[in-house]
Amino acid sequence: MSSSKTLLITGVSSGFGRALAQEALAAGHRVVGTVRHTEAKEAFETLSPNHAFARLLDVTDANAMEGLIAEVEQNVGPVDVLVNNAGYGQEGILEESPLDAMRLQFDVNVFGAVAMIKAVLPYMRRRRRGHILNITSMGGFITMPGIAYYCGSKFALEGISEVLGKEVAPFGIAVTAVAPGSFRTDWAGRSMVRTPRAIADYDALFDPIRKAREEKSGNQLGDPAKAARAILTVIDSDAPPAHLLLGSDALALVRDKLETLAAEIDSWEALTCSTDG
Ligand code: NAP
Repeated sequence: MSSSKTLLITGVSSGFGRALAQEALAAGHRVVGTVRHTEAKEAFETLSPNHAFARLLDVTDANAMEGLIAEVEQNVGPVDVLVNNAGYGQEGILEESPLDAMRLQFDVNVFGAVAMIKAVLPYMRRRRRGHILNITSMGGFITMPGIAYYCGSKFALEGISEVLGKEVAPFGIAVTAVAPGSFRTDWAGRSMVRTPRAIADYDALFDPIRKAREEKSGNQLGDPAKAARAILTVIDSDAPPAHLLLGSDALALVRDKLETLAAEIDSWEALTCSTDG
C-alpha cells in the first residue's frame, strides 16, 4: 500500500462511490463519503468505524459545501483526494424532455462537481498538493440518441476537468477525468430519470434503445470493484492521467469516435482552412 490518504467521495450509497470507498478503506485510506439520507450515513460509517466518515450532502446545495469542507478539514483532516462521483442519468428524447430536466441534470452532474472543486481547492492550493477526480462517462466522448442532456453534462465535465488540470498543475494538484463504460451499478436502474414518451415519430428510433438499456441493467460488462481498484491505481500514481477510460466497451467506442472525427476533419480540411486571411 502507498501512504494513507484521506479521500472525499460524493455519493457513496451505491455503485462506483460505494465500491471506491470500500476498496480505499481496504487499502488503508480514510474516506469521507457524502450521502443524502440518515440511514445511508449510518450504513456507511459501519463499514469501518474509525476510517469511514459520512456527511449529509445533496450536491445541488452549493451553499452547504464551504462549511462542510471546513468542518471535514478540521475534524477529519486534510482532504488529499476529492472524487466527484455523485451523478445520475437523464434519459429522454431531446424534443420530449423539458428544459427543467436538463437544468437538474447539469445542476447535479456539472454544477455540483464544480462547486465541490471550488470548496476544496483553497485548501489543496495552500498545501501545494492534491488530486481531483471527476467521474464523467464514455458519454463524455461518444453519443447516442436519447441521452442528450446526460452526454451534454459529461462532455461539459470532461472539458472543465481538462481546463482545471492546466490551471492547477503549477500548484502540484492533479485533475483526472475518469470515463467509465457500462458498469453494474444502480445508474440504469433506480437512479435513472426517464422522460415519458410523447411523440410517436421517435418510436422506431428510441423505443428499442430504452428497452435494451432497461433489460441490460444489472448485467453490464463492467465490475465496479475493479473500476475502484483501477481508480486507486491512478490515485497512487506520481503522474496521473488527465483522462482515463474504464472498460473495453468505452475503449472501443471512444477509439471509433476519435477515428471517425479525425476522418471527418480530414475530409473537410480544405473548407475549414478556406476562412483564413
Ligand atoms: P448509482 O449506483 O446510481 O450511484 C449514484 C450515486 O450518486 C448515489 O450515491 C446517489 O445517491 C448519488 N447522487 C445522485 N444524485 C445526487 C445528488 N443530487 N446529491 C448527492 N448525491 C447524489 O450509479 P453509479 O453508476 O455509481 O454513478 C456514479 C457516477 O458514475 C455518476 O456520475 C454516473 O453518471 C457515472 N457513470 C456511471 C456509469 C455506469 O455504467 N454505471 C457509466 C459512466 C459513468 P442516492 O443513493 O441518494 O441516490
